[in-house]
Amino acid sequence: MARIIGGIACSHTPTIGFAVDADKRKDPVWAPIFDGFEPARQWLREKKPDALFMIFNDHVTSFFFDHYSAFTLGIDGEYGVADEGGGPRDLPAVKGHAALAQHIGASLMADEFDMSFFQDKRLDHGSLSPLSMLCDHDGAAWPIPIVPLAVGVLQFPIPSARRCWKLGQALRTAIESYPEDISVAIVATGGLSHQVSGARAGFNNTEWDRQFLDLFENDPEALTRLTIADYAKLGGVEGAEVIMWLIMRGALSPNVRKLHESYYLPSMTGIAVAVYENQDRPLPVDKGAEQRARIGRELAGAETIDGIHPFTHAVSVKAYRLNRFLHRLIDPEHRRRFLDEPEAAFAAAGLSEAEKDMVRRRDWDALIRYGVIFFMLEKLGAVVGVSNLHIYAAMRGQTLEEFQATRNAPNALYSVAGKQGMGGIAWDKSK
Ligand code: FE
Repeated sequence: MARIIGGIACSHTPTIGFAVDADKRKDPVWAPIFDGFEPARQWLREKKPDALFMIFNDHVTSFFFDHYSAFTLGIDGEYGVADEGGGPRDLPAVKGHAALAQHIGASLMADEFDMSFFQDKRLDHGSLSPLSMLCDHDGAAWPIPIVPLAVGVLQFPIPSARRCWKLGQALRTAIESYPEDISVAIVATGGLSHQVSGARAGFNNTEWDRQFLDLFENDPEALTRLTIADYAKLGGVEGAEVIMWLIMRGALSPNVRKLHESYYLPSMTGIAVAVYENQDRPLPVDKGAEQRARIGRELAGAETIDGIHPFTHAVSVKAYRLNRFLHRLIDPEHRRRFLDEPEAAFAAAGLSEAEKDMVRRRDWDALIRYGVIFFMLEKLGAVVGVSNLHIYAAMRGQTLEEFQATRNAPNALYSVAGKQGMGGIAWDKSK
């Protein structure tokens, strides 16, 4: 069974990443940042956790307001380094612990947290600033795979402090019910007091920062009674992101052993680093098995019904590249290229030989079995001039006529081709 060994709380200001990249270790202005992180870095080196659960917010880099979510969990096997305006930092991509992430996601959903999930996204300073200070990275790899949780704290309404705390409690159940014997450390990032927007830019409140650190360690639930406005008033609007720390604290035992705490205010943000060792005790009953049964309950038995192919996270990650390729058919330029030069389009997308073959042969049943979601098939059908009914029939192993004979309206043929239907709509006899 997986075990949470403890948590690291730290700021994620871009200052930290800058200090690492510019190697400011010996500069007296920057040295306290390195000193503050050193015990946390040593703790990770010594404990060697198998995974880091990384809580952060993206700074409108990889997540924009066209679709903004409260709690977004990464389920991928790798995360690239984001370009925040001046090219990406010179860091290797970070490996993701996809199996643990998918288990945690399923467990949180079973516990009624309606999560969002991401893959194929790059990480910005929200996670990489502290990660580059906490972990050695020799230019090729990071020592510990991560499970990233992006919290939407920038567009109101945002989750309350209490909701973050409750998510943390569910996170404990999620991690502790993971069936493998692995150790997990939780890193919560953000704050402390700072404001970067408006006439209050440069606001700090060192007294509040100290009080927050004390409450966080000794009476964290009290912090869930504060509203976002309370946090903004006390620690600045952007400083309200410290509610993310409560996700980590909610996942730890009520009493924790503080191994380290430091605080430094060099410029705009009160930079705190703290390490808390979990003081959990094992229960005499295996509650993990109970939770895993709860997780499996909604889909239990579906996989044994012939012709049902649940589109799970595992399937989605496995078939992501091909689903992505087919999804891009909603872009007129991509579908023109696909029709004119399919082999070049396949190659540009990096499709495997097996993937190319299924698309070339329009093998609708094989595509579904491989992990392409039906709604990509109907887009492909629209582009190549095949109706939905042709696809349904093929998946059933029937001719179009055989399948049509089973419908109340046997002559009905349709697709999502819209007004253009670039592949032609040869099946439409009404035109
Ligand atoms: Fe931030």
